[in-house]
Amino acid sequence: GPKRYDVVVVGSGGAGLAAAIQAHDEGASVLIVEKMPTIGGNTIKASAGMNAAETRFQRVKGIQDSKELFYQESLKGGGNKNNPELLHRFVENAPEAIEWLARRGIMLNDITTTGGMSIDRTHRPRDGSAVGGYLISGMVRNVNKRGIDVMLDTSVDDILFEQGEVCGVRLLTEEQESLTVQAKSVVVATGGFSANSAMVVKYRPDLEGFVTTNHKGATGGGIALLERIGAGTVDMGEIQIHPTVEQNTSYLISESIRGGGAILVSQQGNRFFNEMSTRDKVSAAIIALPEHYAYIVFDEHVRAKNKAADEYIGRGFVTSASSPRELADKLGMDHHAFLATLERYNGFVEKQHDDDFGRTTALRAPINEGPFHAIQIAPGVHHTMGGVTINTETEVLNAAQQVIPGAYAAGEVVGGIHGGNRIGGNAVADIIIFGTLAGHQAALRAKRS
Ligand code: ADP
Repeated sequence: GPKRYDVVVVGSGGAGLAAAIQAHDEGASVLIVEKMPTIGGNTIKASAGMNAAETRFQRVKGIQDSKELFYQESLKGGGNKNNPELLHRFVENAPEAIEWLARRGIMLNDITTTGGMSIDRTHRPRDGSAVGGYLISGMVRNVNKRGIDVMLDTSVDDILFEQGEVCGVRLLTEEQESLTVQAKSVVVATGGFSANSAMVVKYRPDLEGFVTTNHKGATGGGIALLERIGAGTVDMGEIQIHPTVEQNTSYLISESIRGGGAILVSQQGNRFFNEMSTRDKVSAAIIALPEHYAYIVFDEHVRAKNKAADEYIGRGFVTSASSPRELADKLGMDHHAFLATLERYNGFVEKQHDDDFGRTTALRAPINEGPFHAIQIAPGVHHTMGGVTINTETEVLNAAQQVIPGAYAAGEVVGGIHGGNRIGGNAVADIIIFGTLAGHQAALRAKRS
């Protein structure tokens, strides 16, 4: 007969793994299905960290923060388009999500900031390394320890629906074999559609030709799966471009470099915008430059505090020089303009006031310690804020806002939480908060039936 589980989780990114671990810990039998040959989805590429306000780790560092401010800044960053109920749940559950990870040996106890946030609330691994790899390896450790079943190279190509409720999935295995799995609950955690350029351009013709930072599995198939059983969608045209992408490799240069004190400089050698503004605004400013690209400039002081910087050096993205003048020459930049830009910026750091562009955060230290470094960047498609509609319990809703029994969704496949622009650090928070909630709800339903 067909295989049977309490809960099938579709997708092995952060949201799927969190859901699977939580459902297992509440006594459910769980199967994770992943279409790619490896675990981790796009989450494994997450760089900045996980936002949360009023956490234990903030308190240890003496950082004063409030959930209300976190809410307001996420809403402002999202252009006031965020779904208020979902955003409230998000902000409310964030500190517990940090603890949920900590209890499972995943410690995000170093704290930095990202564009659009006025307080250090972006939690990341203590050694300053990228959050994604650390998070996924920690969750895989937890999945393995629990003996949760995982099928790789296997995609869910249909959600089975009978008598008004979800009752399983149809899988297509690596051997192109079609397989039915019965389940009481299905958690769809299939991520976004940034890597599906036809789908991106359908909603946003202006993004034709843009590179994407996403892994190639980010094709939006989960949205179609849920639409076939009646799910509604929201904000499909809200697609984020990330301002700082290395264009030859489509590799994302983490916001934590700017958060650590880097600036953005044009080919003319000038600053041109508040580097710590939100991603949509910084991207627009770069696109408006005559060359449509810019440089992230930082010094040895910033490099030493960011593991990511060493990775970028290793990947050959970084131009380094012992003096600012030499760096400008290597970049083919007017060195008089560049030296004046650094001097002026360093003066702003000293008085903690940016007269030119109003940067109020991460005016951390003057850029004056050699060697000096630059990475050429331009925007790329990074995150799809739109997706399927859910309620605050992660139950998938149809177009009439009614629950589709047995269907749960979490992570980037869901629309509404981030409105018109997702703040850096809010996606990792999203996947853990709503992933665990989906796992809880899915297990609860399995227990009831
Ligand atoms: P999130 O950040 O929301 O957790 P990710 O992009 O990290 O999302 O992970 C989503 C995962 O779901 C990816 O690994 C992707 O390959 C996988 N996936 C997408 N569609 C399917 C599908 N139809 N069947 C199985 N796995 C899928």
